[in-house]
Amino acid sequence: MAKLKVKSGGGWPAIRYSFRMGKKAGGIFKLYRALRSSNTCKTCALGMGGVSGGMHNELGQRFQVCKKSMQAQAQDMQAGIPAEFFENTSIEDLAKFTGRDLESMGRLIQPLYLAEGATHFQVINWQDALTKLLENWQAATPDRSFFYTSGRSSMEAAFLVQLLARQWGTNNVNNCSYYCHQASGVGLAQSLGGGTSTVSLEDVRKADLVVLIGANPASNHPRLMTYLAELRRRGGRVIVINPFKEIGLQRFSVPSHMRSLFFSSEIASLYLQPHCGGDLAFLKAAAVFLWQEKRINQAFMVSHCNHFEKFLKDLESEDLQLLLEKSGISFEDLRIFCNYLIESQNTIYAWAMGITHQVHGVENVRAIANIALMLGMVGKPGAGLLPIRGHSNVQGVGTVGVVPKLKPKMADALFNKLNIRVPETLGKDTFACMQAAHNDEMDFAVLVGGNLYGANPNLKWSREALGRINFTAFLSTTLNLGHVFGHGKNSLILPVRARDEEKQTTSQESMFNFVRLSAGGQKAPADDLLSESEIFVNIGKEMFGESPIPWSKLRDHHETRKFIAQTVPQLDAIEQLDSGKEFTIRGRIKHTPNFNTENKKANLAILSVPDARPKNGEFNLMTFRSEGQFNTIVYEDEDLYRGVEHRNVVFMNEKDITSNGFHKSDWVNVESEIGEMAVELIEAPIRQGNVAMYYPEANAIIPAMLDPQSKTPAFKRTAVRISKAV
Ligand code: SF4
Repeated sequence: MAKLKVKSGGGWPAIRYSFRMGKKAGGIFKLYRALRSSNTCKTCALGMGGVSGGMHNELGQRFQVCKKSMQAQAQDMQAGIPAEFFENTSIEDLAKFTGRDLESMGRLIQPLYLAEGATHFQVINWQDALTKLLENWQAATPDRSFFYTSGRSSMEAAFLVQLLARQWGTNNVNNCSYYCHQASGVGLAQSLGGGTSTVSLEDVRKADLVVLIGANPASNHPRLMTYLAELRRRGGRVIVINPFKEIGLQRFSVPSHMRSLFFSSEIASLYLQPHCGGDLAFLKAAAVFLWQEKRINQAFMVSHCNHFEKFLKDLESEDLQLLLEKSGISFEDLRIFCNYLIESQNTIYAWAMGITHQVHGVENVRAIANIALMLGMVGKPGAGLLPIRGHSNVQGVGTVGVVPKLKPKMADALFNKLNIRVPETLGKDTFACMQAAHNDEMDFAVLVGGNLYGANPNLKWSREALGRINFTAFLSTTLNLGHVFGHGKNSLILPVRARDEEKQTTSQESMFNFVRLSAGGQKAPADDLLSESEIFVNIGKEMFGESPIPWSKLRDHHETRKFIAQTVPQLDAIEQLDSGKEFTIRGRIKHTPNFNTENKKANLAILSVPDARPKNGEFNLMTFRSEGQFNTIVYEDEDLYRGVEHRNVVFMNEKDITSNGFHKSDWVNVESEIGEMAVELIEAPIRQGNVAMYYPEANAIIPAMLDPQSKTPAFKRTAVRISKAV
């Protein structure tokens, strides 16, 4: 049922929510102390905390905290789930719970084992658990195994798991970014030679225009809204491009700013609603318009871009009107958009999964880079490109090698410094591992954090794939649907310490390429919990002894960081983290147009444009997250910003509701090529012809369509038909 929506994001509801989270965590002061500890925020990759203390950013600003970080912290501060729960609750019973119920059941504190055909998880001791892991690992072969991590892991644990996998002989090593921002990495690398943000947090504070495309930081990266509100206060502009008119992107109440808290701050100066998937057509239309009007920075393009003449010629061959029709944006809006770009001295283009969760995700990213390059907005302070990354260390796990194909420099360094020859076999990305599992070609999987089952499109297929693996080992802090629906024939759950509960320091990399040090030291729900890195070191030592990798030595994270410094390109500074020197990874922030390509010039991309208009009788279905959710973790069923109390809904434009003979709150069937779901119809400010449902539940009807270049599944534009449920 729909409930009253708030009038702005953040603000008093967020403050009231903090108190509720305080209660959940055992007291508001207890929660405050945990958030204030010298640990990196464990939620989003904007990055807070570290050496200078929790709730601090890298610019020294204090009280940088949000509802999201409290949700995650309170979740981790739950008491342990008693052993009797698993004795009394069968897998069949667990399957009746929602994801939110499972996450809220408490912390996992004992290893659990599910034998083939068993009806219950069995509580086992650590010795037996590690033996089972080791025996099943040794019984498998490298090419029929894979290793997956989420962005929860520390850089140390991530480095160790990929090292272990490679010493064992496989490159089937990947991380959750293959289901979110991989298209950003691939697209940026093609355009600029590097796959991460070209701007720092300080640059965001210098920009006079932020173009926010396919992202909803009001829900997913709340502190970013502080900087956008600040930008508006100093006279700058924010352009939002999103098929759904999000309340928090229109107005946001920044709790740490009195005026904003009481009266809220306007965020979007211009809000454009293309068809879902229409961004590429719109961005190309903008490129055509800028060139037609001769409002490009030609001097910059001549000096710093490859094949600009060919690029401009391609723009001349485009039909502007057709591009606009494909995008769903009017000429007048295009004109205003381009004028704002032209008037800006410093523009930052920021995006998230509205851009990358498309079959043309890489092209989308390259289209954004094209516009920035045409206007000379990359390679100077206060301007550039910013993929808004999700989980707190997702960028860091990729940096230290949790990828199927290591950079040649890192592979060489592993050989030269550690005598580890990286296997020559082609490593599989996340989806390729799932496909192999579905084809009965995987026997063993180590799943570190996350919920791989739920993160996949086509949940039935995902369940089948994971269910065909002989042995799955999860390293988890809380229960989730993946343990219930996404386990192998035999399955082990190893409960692990959260990062801030580690007994030694760990490091994390933010989306601004800033590497923080977390002190650890918070109380774990059980004293004998191991950290992820302890588990990998134990296994490494048992499997390979101490040569050529001295696994026992790597028990000490300081030693691990020395190894990282010696082998991971541009991470030599990580060795000095223990002396408190946090740092920005060198060579990534671009304040001069000196790109990481061979000739130091950026590559403009000639892009063909898909037609994003929904076909007759169909809608474009996009999936998105709520403000009470982080990735696959659902903390709250209600969504304050969109005014709904449950997640079993489809959002539709008022005109589409009327023209299709529906009524608000009708129950309707949403049908894709792979299945259907009965959901409640909610009227919402979404572009006509497009509808939206919640991720990950709607993954049940999202077919597996991949961006061919990045292999990122397209969760954002599925053709669906909608009819009244009977
Ligand atoms: S915005 Fe992100 S990094 Fe900052 S406090 Fe919130 S969840 Fe943590």
